[in-house]
Formats: sequence, structure tokens, C-alpha cells
Amino acid sequence: MLKESAGLEAMLAKREVLGPAYRLFYEEPLYPVKGEGVWLTDHQGRRYLDAYNNVPVVGHCNPKVVAAMTAQASTLCTHTRYLHDGILTYADRLLAHFPSYLNRLMLTCTGSEANDLAIRIAEAVTGGTGVVVTSNAYHGVSHLLAKLSPSLAPIADFVRVVAPPRASLDAADNTEEAHRFAADVARAFEDLQAAGFKPCALLMDMIFASDGILPPTAGLLNEAAQATHAAGAVVIADEVQSGFGRTGDNWWGFVDAALQPDIVTMGKPMGNGYPIAGVVAGADMVATFAAKGRYFNTFGGNPVAVATGMAVLDELEQRQLPAKAGVLGQGLQAAFAQAVAGLGVVEVRGKGLYWGIEIAADGAETATARATRITNHMRQNGVLLSNSGPDAKVLKIRPPLVFEQEHADMLVAALKQALQA
Ligand code: PMP
Repeated sequence: MLKESAGLEAMLAKREVLGPAYRLFYEEPLYPVKGEGVWLTDHQGRRYLDAYNNVPVVGHCNPKVVAAMTAQASTLCTHTRYLHDGILTYADRLLAHFPSYLNRLMLTCTGSEANDLAIRIAEAVTGGTGVVVTSNAYHGVSHLLAKLSPSLAPIADFVRVVAPPRASLDAADNTEEAHRFAADVARAFEDLQAAGFKPCALLMDMIFASDGILPPTAGLLNEAAQATHAAGAVVIADEVQSGFGRTGDNWWGFVDAALQPDIVTMGKPMGNGYPIAGVVAGADMVATFAAKGRYFNTFGGNPVAVATGMAVLDELEQRQLPAKAGVLGQGLQAAFAQAVAGLGVVEVRGKGLYWGIEIAADGAETATARATRITNHMRQNGVLLSNSGPDAKVLKIRPPLVFEQEHADMLVAALKQALQA
């Protein structure tokens, strides 16, 4: 039995204490009280299939992760100004999943902090401040990153936006789009330079999630990376959404894209819900940064964080979840295509266990209204996802990687029913 919980209405009234900047999902807000694997259970004991949450990558309340976390929490939790072997072992294990030139790890608590630190490293290395991002990017919540996140807030004067690269699903060759993107990036850096901002970084989400979920194909970003280097700036791959096997097989979106970024940031799934995030870069860049400043993060990389992160690595590696996500993703692509045919969908795009389904308008009903209605319909039918991207017209699907075929089947069936409704 679940424990007695306050009524929904009383709880909604009480939320005023949080102020109006917070937003809830769904017309009928969800009140989950328990999580297990790919399932969330609400206050009335109803179970929902979670096709949305990428943070609990190895499953909600994964018992091995919880055990590692609690064992370390009941032994020692301090900070990184004492010696601790956990952080060193973790660094070795995580860096083993990177190309050898990316050989330094710095730990933070959130993806925002990781991107913030990455920008500081980029500034130290380039001596510049000008940053290029994509037109509906989201990179974090801090004062700096809000100004680098056009989907969240007005951008700063040292920021320029470019249209995100959109790989054609039909054309094997995306050369033209690679040229277009690179030319836009080059122009954006020239514009920054002309305005007195020396180029610093091209910051890209490796699945362009808030731009509508646009997984880059191999080679799509390379010319833009060349243009970035030619301008004297560095390439930062934001893997907060795309990392840790989300797109199947490879652990990182930049590997899917055959890109060699200078700096990589990550977070969300790294601790399965415990706040741990980080920045990976080459030794030279980190040394240049360290010569100009120092780094200490009170909670970042503490013994509990790294014990938790290590248990997540164990689960991902031992259960081969990235490879499984790849297999499941291939099946999902075909199943989605079949399910949405003739039901008012513009495009299905994605990879592994990250999918975006762009909804079309239907008569007087806008695409945004329809996508919102579908999201709510599915929530009522016990399957959780969201709609996001520009105008929130793209259904966003990114379940825990412990998703199995039976869950994929349930998801596809619920989607078809919602599209037909
Ligand atoms: N980068 C991307 C691509 C993100 O999606 C997010 C979070 N939605 C962040 C950075 C910021 O991460 P956090 O919320 O952990 O600060």
C-alpha cells in the first residue's frame, strides 16, 4: 500500500509557495509517489509507463545504484580538497569511454555548471567571449547560460544564433546542409568579431533537443567545426541530453556525428538522479585554464556522487544498455513509421531511445494544440511523454534505457490511439 498522501487540490493550492516561475506538466498534473524501472506510480496507485525521463537512465530507483549511494553516504561524504580514490577511479572509468585526446575530467553538480565551466575553459584558451548557439538552444539555467539559451531568455550581445543543422532523413548525403550550417557559423563569428567580441566557442547540443530533436548524421558538423577553429574558437559538445548511450551503441552524440569536439559537457543521467555532471577536455586546455584560475565545487565530485556515478557506469556497461537501446531504436523507427502513417505527422526522427515526432496541424487545430492534446491524452492513458521544440509541436520520447520491447510496443500502441483520437 502506498502511504496516505495529500489531496491533489490541496497540494496545487500549496504550490503557491514556490512562486509562478515553476510550471507543471499536463492539464491534469501528475503526482507520482513511487518509481521503479520504467514505471511511475501516482498517489492513487495508478501506474504510468515512463517514456519521458532520461535522468533515471538505468531505471527509477535502480537498486544497485541506491545501494552504492547509501553505502557511501553512510561511510563518508566530504569534498574534493581531501584525497579520495573514488573520484580517481571514476575518472579513469568514464574517460575510458572517450577518445584518448579527451583525457581530463572536472566534476560539477549540474549540466548548467558543466556548460558554465566549459565556457570558462574556452575563454581561457581562446581569449575570446563570443559564442555561437543554435536558434532554439537550451544549455542551462545560470545567469550566463540563460543568455546562451534562446529558448529560455533573450541572448546576450556576445552571442549569435544559427539555424540548427537538419539532416535529411531520405538523403544519405547531407553535404549541402553541412555547407549551409558551416557558412552560417562562419558568418556568426565574423559578426561577433565585427561587434568587438573575439570568437570563443561554438556550443552545440549533440541531439539539438530543444531545436526539435535533430540527431546529426556522421560528418554533418565537421565543416562547422573547421569554421569554428578557423575563427580561433573551440567546439563544445553538450552531451547533457545525448550522452551515456541515449542514442544507442555509441556513448556520445559526437561519436554518432563523427565529430572531434574540444570540450564535452554531460550531466542528467550521470547519477541516475543524484546531482553529478562534468566537463571532459584535453590536458592542455585544462592546464591553460588552471594557469589563469582555479576550480573548486563544494558538492561536485564528492564521494557519494562518484560512488553513484560508478554504479550507473556498472549498470550501463554490464547490461550493455547502449547497444540494447540501439537495437530497440531500430525497431521503434519502423514501428513509429507504421503507426503514424496517415495520422497527421510531419516527421519521425531520432536514434536509439531518443525520438521526436513532429505533429502536423489538423484543420483549425494548430500543431502546437494538437501535440499538447496528444501528450495529455497519452498521460490519461498511462504513458508519459512531453511535447517540446520550437512551438512545442514535437512529441519528445526518451525513456530510461532499461526500456524493453514490451514497453516499446505499449508506447507505440498508445501513440497510435492518441493520434487517432
Ligand atoms: N544542456 C542541455 C542540452 C540540457 O538539456 C540541459 C537541461 N535540460 C542542460 C544543459 C542543463 O542541465 P541542468 O538542468 O542539469 O543544469
